[in-house]
Parts: sequence; C-alpha cells; structure tokens
Amino acid sequence: MSSLPPDPSLYDHLDHVLVDEDSLRRRIREMGAQITRDFAGLPLTVVTILQGGAVFMADLIREIRLPLKLESISVASYHGGVESCGTVTFHQSRMPDLAGRHALILDDILDSGRTLDAILRRLREETEPLSLKTCVLLSKQLTRAVPIEADYRGFDIGDEFVVGYGLDYDGEYRNLPVVGVLKPEWIRPSP
Ligand code: 5GP
Ligand code: MG
Repeated sequence: MSSLPPDPSLYDHLDHVLVDEDSLRRRIREMGAQITRDFAGLPLTVVTILQGGAVFMADLIREIRLPLKLESISVASYHGGVESCGTVTFHQSRMPDLAGRHALILDDILDSGRTLDAILRRLREETEPLSLKTCVLLSKQLTRAVPIEADYRGFDIGDEFVVGYGLDYDGEYRNLPVVGVLKPEWIRPSP
C-alpha cells in the first residue's frame, strides 16, 4: 500500500524536507540489521529517551530481530525554544533496572551532547548494565559542548533546528513522518 498523501496543513509549515520517508525507512532498516548482528545472543534492553525518541524507537525495534526489553527515561532540555538551554531536567527519580542486561540508549538527535552525557552519567552511577551503547537517528556534527559521539547514528546533519519524526517545536510536529526545517515565520520570537 502506498503512503498517505501529505497533509498540507502540516507540511505547509516546512521550509524544506531534510530526510524523507523512504530514506528514514532504508536507514533504520540498516541500523536494525547492524544492531541485530552486534547483539545476537545477548540480553538486550533498549532505553528510549522520551519524548523525542519515541517515533524512532517504534520503527527501529521492529527492525531488530532479537528478543529485547524496553525501558524509557523522560527528560527535557529545550523547554519550548529552538536552542538547548544547557540544563537537563529528569522527569523521574529512578533509572531503569539494567542489571545483567546490555543497554542500548536511543535518542532522536545529538546536538550539544549534554542530554546524552547527563543520562550516561546517571546510568553509570545508578545502574549496572553489562554494557552501555548509544544510538541516535540524527547527529549535528558541529555543535558539541561535550565531546561525545553515538555508537550508532542514522544521519549526520548541519546546525539547523529540525522537526518531525519525533522531534518537536514547542510540543508540536512530532507526528510529521519526515524530518524537516520549519519556515522562520512559524518560529515565535523567544520572550
Ligand atoms: P543536546 O543535549 O545534545 O544539545 O540535545 C539533545 C536534545 O535536544 C535532543 O534529545 C532533542 O530533544 C533536542 N534537540 C536538539 N537539536 C534539536 C533540533 O534540531 N530540533 C528539535 N526539535 N530538538 C532538538
Ligand atoms: Mg530529546
């Protein structure tokens, strides 16, 4: 079955599409195959960083042809704007139990690196996984405040604010099936 025609009211807000549906599907299939090879025979727990990682997680885990468990961690680092404010707020006090498991941490995008860094620190301090690996759909290459790279990454992109496929602007656009760049007129000036 072919995919639904784009809803013009959602797509109208985009200046351009950066990663289309076919490219997402193809790349996520490759990443799933790689992860399947790397974790074959191992007890795997996929830990998704919410909310941004939810759409990526849903597609990626169906391309990982292994038994696995799912956990999530909910954080905020943007607080409604288009730039990371530098502090990472955890929405829960307990980290998932990863004892005896190989953990694969999933996020939508790696930008300054502060979010993934803060999460890895807490997981290392508070849990005892057999190993800890990271996987992001998108990686901005020029914007790191912390020297960190993901073990698995889908696409390298430039330093621009993107939405769609789980990524939001002020809570919206997460359900766009593509990754795109908003038209400037849809970005409200920060107060
Ligand atoms: P970092 O802590 O690496 O600067 O940023 C990571 C988090 O900031 C991501 O999980 C994501 O929620 C958010 N983020 C970073 N870049 C973008 C972007 O271009 N668009 C959106 N919507 N969120 C972003
Ligand atoms: Mg995020």
